[in-house]
Amino acid sequence: MPLSLYIHIPFCQTLCTYCAFNTYAGLNALIAPYLDALRCEMRAVSSGLSKAHSHSLFLGGGTPSLLDPEQVASIVHTAREHYGLSPTAEITLEANPGATDEARLTAYRAAGVNRLSLGIQSAHAGELRLFGRRHTPEQSAETFAMARRAGFDNISLDLIYGAPHQTLDGWDTTLHTVLAWQPDHLSLYALTLEPGTSLHIRVKRGTLPPPDPDLAADMYDHARLLIAQAGLAHYEISNWACPGFESLHNRQYWLNRPYLGFGAGAHGSAGGVRYWNVDPVREYIDRIDQGPPRGYPLSAAAAGCEEIARELEMSETLILGLRLVREGVGKAAFAARFGCEPGEVFGPALNELTEMGLISVDAEAIRLTERAYLVSNQVFVRLLPD
Ligand code: SF4
Repeated sequence: MPLSLYIHIPFCQTLCTYCAFNTYAGLNALIAPYLDALRCEMRAVSSGLSKAHSHSLFLGGGTPSLLDPEQVASIVHTAREHYGLSPTAEITLEANPGATDEARLTAYRAAGVNRLSLGIQSAHAGELRLFGRRHTPEQSAETFAMARRAGFDNISLDLIYGAPHQTLDGWDTTLHTVLAWQPDHLSLYALTLEPGTSLHIRVKRGTLPPPDPDLAADMYDHARLLIAQAGLAHYEISNWACPGFESLHNRQYWLNRPYLGFGAGAHGSAGGVRYWNVDPVREYIDRIDQGPPRGYPLSAAAAGCEEIARELEMSETLILGLRLVREGVGKAAFAARFGCEPGEVFGPALNELTEMGLISVDAEAIRLTERAYLVSNQVFVRLLPD
């Protein structure tokens, strides 16, 4: 089964007000030694593989577009050399508008990157300020146009909805604005107030209103309507794509297939083991430099790991697969993987969810119903092992 590779780049110019990712501002001086450690980790883990074949590489963060194109090329090269990254693999780079130019984008393309994920978030200057973003709406539009000119024919955009002070009218404008650019893929994120973030603190202090879940639900429904009219298909709870532009890398997660994570705070799941690396950048570098080797899929930077029992793997395969709203969880594929149909293991829960109108079950597959899209956690919690 082909692998997917995730590379974490934990550096940002400044921190956005909603962000709780493992990323740091002011540490850019560590980028070069960090990348040395990253390549070292990739080589060390690959020594436990007799033959690897990878079909996707995702550079996420953080802000991977802080890397020079040569640095990106060296990661792609390491992935090709040690993980059999195929010539046709999907190679995604996350980038922030306003922080790159056309020559740089062209050089990323030449380095092998063939999919760009742009953090647009909103088409309103006030909302971008609220989110602590460093770009303007004009820079977003310009970056998208530059990326097309640089040869990117697969561009995904991230947007945030359900934030304090957002309105349905404003959201409508954001959607119309970005859909007019004709992106190939859209990811919509409902704002969650993560503890410790600046937005969370301001809401707790009462200087910002809390997000309104009813408004967020209306925004989601409105987005579904507009995006469908624009010709992108809704294929995952929070993701839409033109035909053939579904994210191969993220599909690997949703199909509960193996992926390796490299870098500070990266997670991976392969060989029946789930693992996670240490978060701090310096500790990550030190561990890779000095730590003892570990067995595949762990590196010296692993902070923890757990074996994935068969029961948990079945549960996670069902839960993650249900996120793929069009295809759902195929009964034949599940049976081929586990030797039994989902109904044999999850029968009572599936019956209950069907009666609640949250899933539909036919001869081929189990799928979420449309009314479950916004309350999918109610479904997933019933499918967890005891
Ligand atoms: S640019 Fe992305 S990773 Fe960095 S702080 Fe903002 S949201 Fe977080």
